[in-house]
Amino acid sequence: MIKADFHLHSEFSSDSETPVEAVIETAIDKGLDILCLTDHHDIDFPADKYKLTFILDIDSYYKRLCDLKERYKDKIDLRIGVELGLMPHLATEVHEAATKYPFDFLIGSSHLVDYVDIYYPEYYEGRTEVEAYREYFQTIVDNARNIKDYDVYGHLDYVTRYGPTQNKNFRFEDYEDIFREALKIIIDDGKGIEINTAGLKKGLGYPHPHIDILKCYKELGGEIITVGSDAHVTENIAYGFDMVPDYLKAAGFEYYCVYKDRKPEFVKL
Ligand SMILES: [Zn+2]
Ligand SMILES: [Zn+2]
Repeated sequence: MIKADFHLHSEFSSDSETPVEAVIETAIDKGLDILCLTDHHDIDFPADKYKLTFILDIDSYYKRLCDLKERYKDKIDLRIGVELGLMPHLATEVHEAATKYPFDFLIGSSHLVDYVDIYYPEYYEGRTEVEAYREYFQTIVDNARNIKDYDVYGHLDYVTRYGPTQNKNFRFEDYEDIFREALKIIIDDGKGIEINTAGLKKGLGYPHPHIDILKCYKELGGEIITVGSDAHVTENIAYGFDMVPDYLKAAGFEYYCVYKDRKPEFVKL
């Protein structure tokens, strides 16, 4: 089983109320060796519209996690990360946030398309699901082209969690051109992708991303893959991690990665 969860949220994220200590203690109870907190920081998120800010108090966050890292050091290896919500015009702001402290790990994620949060039904209105999904996947290309301050791109097919029929009608062929373009940029920049088991939790039947996306990444030369539960509550920490090795092996991978000081370390599956 995978013993490192590299995508976790706590009370520092606008959409979680879980105390950081509870995240750490649950991870210890579940037998993890390493955990990396990655609370949300979505710069320029339309806060008024959604009544959520998604802005991380980076100073308090970093300081608090440094204290906890020390306090729990005999029980678990705590690493400090951030999930950065990306938009193509944010290169300067993201660079500033990413380099403010010596983080271990940064996830870059697409949560918005033209300031619309794809979590809400509004995003899917007035067009086909394939059109809505293509536009979402295109943000990965646009963001990856403009922003280099991240280590892995988060939950690549996140949009299939929230679309009208979720992944029921998902066919990789409908989006292959976009994924090839996005993955080439990610690989050329020395970045990776993640297995995000919230997909499994949300009923997709597999973790993000779909196996065809994973196979495409492999075919294009991609090697770096982290594993995260994207848990916002303690029950979901390391959710489904027992099935991840087989899922990765089925796509041809023999290693997953953990990050320290923004550098990947390969761990045999
Ligand atoms: Zn996310
Ligand atoms: Zn997340």
